[in-house]
Amino acid sequence: MKKNKDKGLGIDAEKDEFGDRYTQILLKAELIDYSPVSGCYILRPRAYAMWEKVQDYFNRLIKKDGVKNVYFPLFIPESLLNKEKEHVKGFSPEVAWVTHAGNSELKEKLAIRPTSETIMYSAFSKWIRSWRDLPLRLNQWANVVRWEFKHPLPLLRSREFLWQEGHSVFALQNEADEEVYKIREFYEDVFKNVYAVPVIKGRKTEKEKFAGAEYTLSIEVFLPSGKAVQGATTHNLGQNFSKSFDITFLGKNEKKSYPFQTSWGLSTRSIGIAIMVHSDNKGLVLSPRIAETQIVIVPIFTEENKKEMLGAAEEIKSKLNNYSVEIDTSDKTPGFKFNDSELKGIPIRIEIGKKDLDKNEVTIFRRDTLKREGVKIGNLADTIRKLIDDIHNNLYNKAEKFLEDNTIFANDITKLKKSISEKKLALTEWCGDEKCEEHIKSETGGAKIICINEELKPKKNCVYCKKKAKYVVYVAKSY
Ligand SMILES: [Zn+2]
Repeated sequence: MKKNKDKGLGIDAEKDEFGDRYTQILLKAELIDYSPVSGCYILRPRAYAMWEKVQDYFNRLIKKDGVKNVYFPLFIPESLLNKEKEHVKGFSPEVAWVTHAGNSELKEKLAIRPTSETIMYSAFSKWIRSWRDLPLRLNQWANVVRWEFKHPLPLLRSREFLWQEGHSVFALQNEADEEVYKIREFYEDVFKNVYAVPVIKGRKTEKEKFAGAEYTLSIEVFLPSGKAVQGATTHNLGQNFSKSFDITFLGKNEKKSYPFQTSWGLSTRSIGIAIMVHSDNKGLVLSPRIAETQIVIVPIFTEENKKEMLGAAEEIKSKLNNYSVEIDTSDKTPGFKFNDSELKGIPIRIEIGKKDLDKNEVTIFRRDTLKREGVKIGNLADTIRKLIDDIHNNLYNKAEKFLEDNTIFANDITKLKKSISEKKLALTEWCGDEKCEEHIKSETGGAKIICINEELKPKKNCVYCKKKAKYVVYVAKSY
């Protein structure tokens, strides 16, 4: 593609350095910026607005279902973090600690929350007394810190990120089972109806499940780079934490029991995923349902008719009150303005030229298809209303087709290795043995079992050891 270096426009990474292109888009579209701390990023207004839309949508889903929002402190005393053994083992390598207040050393180190199970559940043990206190279903919107040492990637792998974490407590095991499946549906809903991103659903292997959980469900997204990424997870914690934190309730039968718990999270990583799925060489591509600015109006004017054209732009904006609309009033050339709106992923552009205006017409440009169309101003509101859904559905369908076209059934190790080297998402069969899971990873140069497909039943043998298969699994390289 044509470079436009002096103007700082355009994405300059055509030889697919996918990660490179992604980072350039984030920076040039003014979504994120670097901070002085490696792996910690600034979310600029365009990115933060996306997160607010996700918050609005998800809050509606969970509140309607009876979940209440809360806020717990950022710091977790070391003794609390250590209470559930598997949990602390999983998280301790990436915990950041506060050890000093001013110059004096703290008596007990404080962890900056990597997740809030431990601090929440110590409170739950005080709050829950009888079956009448259940179910308890709470959610918090917060930041967490996981001091990963892998190569950081904005939004996808950062040391501090924003998320929601839901935590619920039930009297019965089957209620906890229902919760983790239901919340995963909510996550799928967000990905499908807000981000226009199709997902794969499954259960994590024992090796990959959340530290301290009985089992973990996830949604995963397969990206154009040929790698999968975890989109959101729900964990069934069984009674592991209620036992460690001494959460008990008196049942209707007057007997004391440990309740069953779940936790579930969706983070700002989801923004990065949507960007990776839809963007192209011109820059960002977004669904109008998630874009901060849905429509940009570009009046094309000369020195002489500037006032008239800006007036016309304002009038058109006033017809589009239901949308977030910007008018580009700058004196830059139309070509520059067009490139800029494409780079920033504004889903719809309305171009107003003098000749068109005299015929009561404007030109509509769609970022997703890069197509232009003339529209009578009288029909504009109707056209836009339809276009908002059309663009969303087109992006979703395109991504779904990509997923279908790139999913390969590989029932022997040669075919599995070939699929992975061709950057496909492989479906294969596995015996359930962790050793075979390791072998699959080493044989394919680092691809792993990203999740177990719970809908498909195995018909043949394990792709590695040839013993009877227990599971159908997805294998791919991943972020
Ligand atoms: Zn095996």
